[in-house]
Amino acid sequence: MLFDTHAHMNDRAFDSDREELLQKLPSEGISLLMNPGCNLEDSRQSVALAEKYPYIYAAVGSHPDSADEVNEAVIDQYRQLCRHEKVKAIGEIGLDYHYEDIPRDIQKKAFVMQMELARELNLPVIVHERDAHEDGMAIIRDFPDVTGVFHCYSGSAEMARQLVDLGWYIGFTGVLTFKNARKALETAASIPLERIVLETDCPYMAPEPFRGKRNSPAYLFRMAEKLAELRELPVAEIHRITTENGQHLYRI
Ligand SMILES: [Zn+2]
Repeated sequence: MLFDTHAHMNDRAFDSDREELLQKLPSEGISLLMNPGCNLEDSRQSVALAEKYPYIYAAVGSHPDSADEVNEAVIDQYRQLCRHEKVKAIGEIGLDYHYEDIPRDIQKKAFVMQMELARELNLPVIVHERDAHEDGMAIIRDFPDVTGVFHCYSGSAEMARQLVDLGWYIGFTGVLTFKNARKALETAASIPLERIVLETDCPYMAPEPFRGKRNSPAYLFRMAEKLAELRELPVAEIHRITTENGQHLYRI
């Protein structure tokens, strides 16, 4: 059994067959799934989906691409949504300087406001951080009592070790299976196994041999196989350990 710790099941890529896919996932070995929100509307949909399926949990938050929607009123909406028992984290939140459609100062402000909400509600956070390592680390160091996961991890092994020391989890996607994944592999091979969680980030980031196609939580076994190979452990052990890690991360 595996825990997909980051899957976007509200995405329109699943509009044609969402219910069918979600109904059969448990029989395909996915026993738990975290469905984060990317903006207020998406967060509401995540909560609705979690209400419908016992194995699905929700997180609420505004992704850096939607950082310009974040204000006190939106934060209060998230505060209300967090009263729901299936909401287990604030996310995904963070910084993305890759395209910079949203100015950096607006992204930082939204990230900080949502970190404050996580601290107030004592919830873990799901961080999306791309090409913003320095600013990302500076902000999380300002919140020593807030931890969570750096999802779809793209930093160095050294930065991952710093995060682990601060109590964070590191999330790996199908990137682990890519030919040019040297940095991710180095990190996944060297940090403590009890700090690693697996995720698909579907519908994006499909693992080999499905690369370029629509990703699905059902492909998570590919990441587990790769990690088992890297850590020289039986795949069943990797399933057990990474599932427990996800449960600790989200307190499920
Ligand atoms: Zn995501």
